[in-house]
Amino acid sequence: MTASTNHAGLGIEFHEVEKRYGAFVALRRINLSISAGEFVLLLGANGSGKTTLLRLAALLLRPNRGQVKFPGHEDSAAERIKVRIGVVAHTTLLYDELTAEENLRFFAQLYELGEMHTLIAQALENCGLAHRRESQVRTFSRGMRQRLSLARALLHRPGLLLLDEPTTGLDRQGLDWLTATLETLRASGCTVLMSTHAQSVVMPLATRAVLLERGALVQDTGPGGDASALLAETGAAGERR
Ligand code: ATP
Repeated sequence: MTASTNHAGLGIEFHEVEKRYGAFVALRRINLSISAGEFVLLLGANGSGKTTLLRLAALLLRPNRGQVKFPGHEDSAAERIKVRIGVVAHTTLLYDELTAEENLRFFAQLYELGEMHTLIAQALENCGLAHRRESQVRTFSRGMRQRLSLARALLHRPGLLLLDEPTTGLDRQGLDWLTATLETLRASGCTVLMSTHAQSVVMPLATRAVLLERGALVQDTGPGGDASALLAETGAAGERR
């Protein structure tokens, strides 16, 4: 894998996407077109399909029907698209037995990143874990893992960042750090798709919000929409089911 052109935002489109787990339909006929540079909040109650949608976007799952497309990359192999995507998942994708620094190095090697030493030092500094760079991740708190997970996801400067409830486990300082990081990313043109099922501190950053209900996309503010208004209008999505 190589990550040479990871600067401009990467758009993503879902065309009539359906995802089943056995006989259970987790997502039905999803149509959603997100342009490069949008910051989209994915709202919905527990089990509404947010993680499934994000995993499809990350090319970690394949739809049973329909297509996930990346405009301008229609002919690109999945591996070439994956190097342009950053993922912060529920499971942090970190190796417990490796130190913070080793985790980032492993990822940097996988993506064949240049100037690895500087890149990793900066990433550890940015996420506030430079002083713990030699500690094994298994000794980290949940919030510290979350910080390192985001640092890992940003190391290769993705054009599309996918975040699954990234505020989980973060304290006030961590939330401020996350908000500032996402603000910078948004300004740099990176596309962001982030799930949440409740009011979130990063909500003011969103340029659009979509709502999933039982696997269907039931509302979309469209670009420039007000995420808070959509959440208020639909009630606290997390309490609906
Ligand atoms: P939460 O807010 O709780 O994280 P979510 O909106 O992210 O929920 P998903 O994790 O996408 O929801 O799950 C959507 C539905 O698909 C749920 O009913 C869930 O039980 C089901 N599901 C998810 N993964 C699997 C799986 N691997 N096998 C079977 N069913 C699954």
